Amino acid sequence: MAKTIDVMSLYPKDMNIYGDSGNVLTIRRRLELYGYEPVIHQYNQGDDWPNHVDLILGGGGQDTGQKKIIDDLYRRANLLRALAVEGTPMLMICGMYQLFGEYFETVDGTRLDGIGIIGAYTVGQDARMIGNLVEHSEQFGDVIGYENHSGQTFLRPGVKPLGTVDADGRGNNGKDHTEGARVHNVIGTYMHGSLLPKNPAVSDFLIGAAVSRRYGSFDTADQTKEQAAALAELDRTAAHARESAA
Ligand code: GLN
Repeated sequence: MAKTIDVMSLYPKDMNIYGDSGNVLTIRRRLELYGYEPVIHQYNQGDDWPNHVDLILGGGGQDTGQKKIIDDLYRRANLLRALAVEGTPMLMICGMYQLFGEYFETVDGTRLDGIGIIGAYTVGQDARMIGNLVEHSEQFGDVIGYENHSGQTFLRPGVKPLGTVDADGRGNNGKDHTEGARVHNVIGTYMHGSLLPKNPAVSDFLIGAAVSRRYGSFDTADQTKEQAAALAELDRTAAHARESAA
């Protein structure tokens, strides 16, 4: 029997714009092609928390979406903080990245406290930062995607960014060339796109961490030849996208 991996899609109803649900599809497909059995839990406000979670994916959303989910996020904050410290891999895009920080002050002056997993704060401004984004990450090489946010995020001293931005894109704040953040096995980033179909190294980091935490190591013993070929095909598609973005 294939080994199962429990993947949570966090607030897909309100926090899922610019194709972020593609991240969930990519994790599901890659897990299958590595010979694992993904179980996807859609978690929205008020839902029961599943018995077990190996990997958590959160998307971006408008300020209004963030306001809708915030109370439920506070309800789950201790749990999420504990999971992050234990090493559960998580990917938080844009609006959820902001709420994983200390606070987000929106452009209309509303302050939303975050849950403080990432040492960063965000301040909204009138001008939006929109466009293709290419960053260089020590861990993942070039990461490519698309950003669209008004919030400017500033990392606290000592917090590592996901990568640095030079030519293309604005990143965390358009000023200090940082983009995203890396804490425990949590990645926060402004990269939509979707991010994961175009960046297999990031997908495989999340999958590798989830599988090794649950089963001791990440192996592909149950992978068939057909699955290996299909995975290679996915990677070729990503490589084409990456070439045209670079
Ligand atoms: N509402 C936030 C901002 O504009 C997040 C936007 C998003 O998730 N794309 O900064």
